[in-house]
Amino acid sequence: MHPQARRIWLAAIGGSIAMKAAQTIRQLGFRKWYERELIHSHAHLVLLVLSAVGLLGSAEVYSGSAPLADQLLTVACATASAAIGLWALRRYVYLLMHAEHIANQAVCPQCDAYAKWLPVDEDARYKRLSVRCKRCECCWDIDL
Ligand SMILES: [Zn+2]
Repeated sequence: MHPQARRIWLAAIGGSIAMKAAQTIRQLGFRKWYERELIHSHAHLVLLVLSAVGLLGSAEVYSGSAPLADQLLTVACATASAAIGLWALRRYVYLLMHAEHIANQAVCPQCDAYAKWLPVDEDARYKRLSVRCKRCECCWDIDL
């Protein structure tokens, strides 16, 4: 893929992920969204552990004296486990870091209230959510 096309594609994907987060926060509220993101990310951590078990199981089963078909099947299982594990690790880290990135901005700059705000507006172009504090009516932007 051409680097420019890849950059545009990644920006579109990132924008859609950010807007999906904004939509979910608007529907469920920040606390529920945050809880779901943590559960989702830790589900990927469980998948990572399971794929590590699959990789170790493949290493345990592999034998150089086994028939070639069995060796190939074992290598295929190890490769699939490794690929799934790498994907799960990337998703785990991404979801956790994204949730923490937004959670770190969820504190009202005026009264220090955590997660006591309502979304007011969203800007898809800059992946930003404008929020207003329920306690002191202070407004600020959260980068998604
Ligand atoms: Zn406030």
